[in-house]
Amino acid sequence: MPRPNLTDRLIAHHAERTAADLARRLRTVTAATGLRIRLDGRDLLSFASNDYLGLAQDPRLIAALQSTANDFGVGATAAHLLGGHRRPHQQLEASLAEWLGYPRALLFSTGMMANIGVLSCLLQRGDVCVQDRLNHASLIDGARLADAELLRYPHADLAAARRQLQARPQAAALLASDAVFSMDGDHAALGELAALCQREPATLLVDDAHGLGVLGEQGRGSVAAQGLSATEVPVLMVTLGKALGTFGAAVLGSTALIEGLIQFSRPYIYTTALPPALAAATLQSISIVRAETWRRDHLAVLIERFRSRAQAIGLRLMASATPIQPILIGDSGRAMAWSQQLEAAGFYVPAIRPPTVPDNAARLRVTLSASHSLAEVDALIEALARASAA
Ligand SMILES: *Cc1c(COP(=O)(O)O)cnc(C)c1O
Repeated sequence: MPRPNLTDRLIAHHAERTAADLARRLRTVTAATGLRIRLDGRDLLSFASNDYLGLAQDPRLIAALQSTANDFGVGATAAHLLGGHRRPHQQLEASLAEWLGYPRALLFSTGMMANIGVLSCLLQRGDVCVQDRLNHASLIDGARLADAELLRYPHADLAAARRQLQARPQAAALLASDAVFSMDGDHAALGELAALCQREPATLLVDDAHGLGVLGEQGRGSVAAQGLSATEVPVLMVTLGKALGTFGAAVLGSTALIEGLIQFSRPYIYTTALPPALAAATLQSISIVRAETWRRDHLAVLIERFRSRAQAIGLRLMASATPIQPILIGDSGRAMAWSQQLEAAGFYVPAIRPPTVPDNAARLRVTLSASHSLAEVDALIEALARASAA
């Protein structure tokens, strides 16, 4: 047998996916004004943005970015440990720790890297890592990179999680969960997960990419919203590219955890630090997120309006109280057809298909933002009613 060619194999995988009508397509947005995006020459209203509070184009963030770029330049020029750690990074870490009630915070370039960085650093071969089946890919990949035994329990099945932990009573154990599940919008029962982790005992890692800024008093996120703190959730990962409207991520935890990550976390060590101007923009964003409660209040009104109207026209919603409001369709082709029809009506609502979601669970993933008006939500509902009748 000749040696297989890697690119040929990739081409074959791609062809299979295309044959199944599941190929992904990269499209370019050529202009964006808030949620109004131009795609293939058409102006669309986006219901796909993670900019839940409408801050990504806030003039105060842009001003902070520009003035810090004047002082520090565009790039950080080096990794954190080699001169790239600049004052805006240090200020942002202090601000995140204070806001979220943790001893320390450590910046990573993305949430993907933060999850991989913390899991691959804490876990090693022989350990067990128990995860909700619907967790984000970065949590799964982090456990794999660490070479830990990865056990995935059925979504939200706490009894299964307990059995998986108890099956390996001698092994060091970590339980990781999304706080808000990114494709379903529901949230994990963090109090119960924390209690389970205290009994077993296991370390609890919570990924609050979609809760930060949106949930809890002052937008402190899922941990605070569920009445918990750093004691019950010792390792917290948050991303800055969603409700905060900027880019990057942070891990929060004890001084010992953070100092250990600085020593051993390869995705922290071997990469260029986030641009300092972005850190300054995020710092500005945090103060807005904490103070401007009206953004969360308006979002709650939009969520309520969307759910009641969508249910009234018979759409299948999921058990979500967050800005992520998927409409379950099932068949992938049908989900694509709905998405295309909405686009023809001026709305950008992408279809999410396997393997991102389970087989026969294709959906339209609607996300709401404080920048939407009630009238815009109503207009989307009307377009959905026409799509569902077609
Ligand atoms: C978006 C997301 C991430 C990744 O964050 P990035 O900063 O975009 O890399 C991690 N976890 C969850 C649950 C997410 O939704």
